[in-house]
Amino acid sequence: MLVRKAARVVVTVLGLLLPLVAVAAPSASADPQALVRTLYYDVSQAQEFTADWDRAATNWNNSVANVKLARKTTGTPTNIRILADNGWPRAYVDSLGNGTVYMGRQAVDQGYYRPRIATHEIGHILGLPDRRTGLCADLMSGSSAPTSCRNDLPNAAERAEVERRFAGQLAAADVRAAGYAGTECFVY
Ligand SMILES: [Zn+2]
Repeated sequence: MLVRKAARVVVTVLGLLLPLVAVAAPSASADPQALVRTLYYDVSQAQEFTADWDRAATNWNNSVANVKLARKTTGTPTNIRILADNGWPRAYVDSLGNGTVYMGRQAVDQGYYRPRIATHEIGHILGLPDRRTGLCADLMSGSSAPTSCRNDLPNAAERAEVERRFAGQLAAADVRAAGYAGTECFVY
C-alpha cells in the first residue's frame, strides 16, 4: 500500500515536471550564437538629427553590456528605422529591439534637448516604458522633466532593466516575442 502510494507520488511529480522539461529543452533551431545582441539603426532618413541618434547609440553602448547598437551598413539588417518630422518625438515598438523612432521638431523647437530625446526613444526600443516622474535624473521621464534638462543617460534602474531584458539565452524569436503584442507607440 505504502509502495503504491509512493509510486503514485512519483508519477504525479514526473507529470508536473515534464512540461517544464519540454519548455527548457533547446530546439534545433535555437542557435545560441545567433542571439540578437547587436541592433542596427538606420540614419539614412534621420535628416538633421543624425548626430543626435549616434550620440544616443553611444550613450546606450556606454551604459549596458547585453545589447549593442551599431549603425546599419550594407549587408546588415535594420532593427531601428529613424525618421524625422514636425510632430512630437515618438517610438513605434514592433518588438523588443525592433521599431521606428521619430525625432519631432515640435519638441526640439520647444527647447527639449535633442540627445536626451533620442536616447529616450531608443530606450523604448530597448523595452523601457514611460515613467513621467518629472525628474531630470530619469531618462524615461521624458518631457515631464523641464526643457532645461540635459541628462541624456539612463539611470541605474533603467540600465538594469535593459540588461535584464536582453540577458540570458534568448533566441531571436524569443526576443521578438518578449512582451509585445503588436506595435506600441510611446512619446517623449
Ligand atoms: Zn517616451
